[in-house]
Amino acid sequence: MKILQVASEVAPLAKTGGLADVTAALPKELRRMGHDVRVAIPFYKGVASGEFPVRKARKSAEVELGGELHKGFLRQTSLGDVPVYLIENRDFFGRDHLYGTPEGDYPDNPRRFAFFCRSVLQFLKRMDFRPDVIHCHDWQAALIPVILRNEFGDDPFFNRTAVVFTIHNLAYQGLFPAEALPQMGLDTSLFTTDLLEYYGRVNLMKGAILSADAITTVSETYCREILTPEQGCGLEGVLMERRADLVGILNGLDTDEWSPALDRRIFRNYSTKSLAGKGADKRELQRELGLKVAASVPLIGMVGRIVEQKGIDLVIDLLPRLAAEEVQVVILGTGDLRLMHQLHEFRNRGVKNVSINLGFKEPLAPKIYAGCDMFLMPSRYEPCGLSQLIALSYGTVPIVRRTGGLADTVIDVTGNPREGNGFSFGDFNGESCWDAIQRALAAYRDREGWRKIMRRGMLRDVSWRHAADKYEELYRQCVEKKRG
Ligand code: ADP
Repeated sequence: MKILQVASEVAPLAKTGGLADVTAALPKELRRMGHDVRVAIPFYKGVASGEFPVRKARKSAEVELGGELHKGFLRQTSLGDVPVYLIENRDFFGRDHLYGTPEGDYPDNPRRFAFFCRSVLQFLKRMDFRPDVIHCHDWQAALIPVILRNEFGDDPFFNRTAVVFTIHNLAYQGLFPAEALPQMGLDTSLFTTDLLEYYGRVNLMKGAILSADAITTVSETYCREILTPEQGCGLEGVLMERRADLVGILNGLDTDEWSPALDRRIFRNYSTKSLAGKGADKRELQRELGLKVAASVPLIGMVGRIVEQKGIDLVIDLLPRLAAEEVQVVILGTGDLRLMHQLHEFRNRGVKNVSINLGFKEPLAPKIYAGCDMFLMPSRYEPCGLSQLIALSYGTVPIVRRTGGLADTVIDVTGNPREGNGFSFGDFNGESCWDAIQRALAAYRDREGWRKIMRRGMLRDVSWRHAADKYEELYRQCVEKKRG
């Protein structure tokens, strides 16, 4: 099949979170299976100034938005054998950030990503690459299904193309004031409650859910959760309407990048056959962070965005109690200024067994996954979560809240001693989280039992193979349906 992935991020060219990992790893796996897969993202300043060889294609597009013409140029690079199309427009994408500054989102985001989506469709025609499937990710690519269904109608170039839309995080819907409609080049006739209108505003994700041939999200549990008022972020009714075409496919992990046996970024490699290297990684990590070098003190790690979604507020509340225990804690992350400030304040207290690292530090993350004994992820909600998958493969036992992808990947040792690979709790509160941490610490004292838990996590198949098989099957079904 010919497949185009359209997204606002792909690793390592442009990444702010798990989305970038998916749009990098899924195409790679689908290529291996023999499909002609390509990716399209905006040509951000960071990509332009990065170390990637970028070719200029002699193609341009003209997109009219609200009476103004915007010119787009096509550039190309590749990630392995996956071609990546880069949509260039300096005014829109030649900026320091992808979506906004720390003070807030860029106000012209609707225009920027409408330009992106419309250019992609124009370029496809000019390149004569007619995809069987266009797979769009999150609100930034949500206009594609909307436009194809409502503006392109029977356009012979696209009338055999199926569109799949994936929700990576339902909390970010692309919600804009009604005035954004003309800025995105959209006709007011599309502003109805059965398409783009959501309580007087434009909701791009809603439009995509109602227009795509199939909708997916990134774990089975999250797929069920988003149909409820608690987790549906107001779109549960719309999702219910499309329930028959909605499916949860758990993300995999790029095992070329994340494998303790091959990872060059960590001090010593290891595997289930020999765990000795992990001890050395712990020692090095303790040394690097200025923690006491002690093999027997359990070391708990946390890597992720410092936002309420990740339950960091629970952890901040528990930090004084953790500081008083015979444990060490390392936190790496960046995000919400208020929460970062609280962490900063705690760091200033000079507590010796807690290391707080604020910032996006790519080199430190693998060292934490490798060097820690446990990995804490008490998320309020978690569409899939990559961090716990990395932790599992690195023999770092996850302690998680039982939600979304965490519920689908972490089996609680207390509830299932034979198959358990981690510790989980249900209610989102400090006491439940504390209880799970205590259960993990108690299990840690039984060295042989602990190694079994580690091994079970490391042996779990987290590769992209399963997910890619499921996407392939879904693509086929959509194409067949499309072609009757
Ligand atoms: P989300 O996509 O919700 O941010 P995921 O767990 O799916 O969360 O993926 C986060 C990815 O980003 C992981 O690979 C994680 O290691 C990485 N990451 C997050 N924050 C940081 C940071 N401050 N420094 C380095 N890597 C980080």
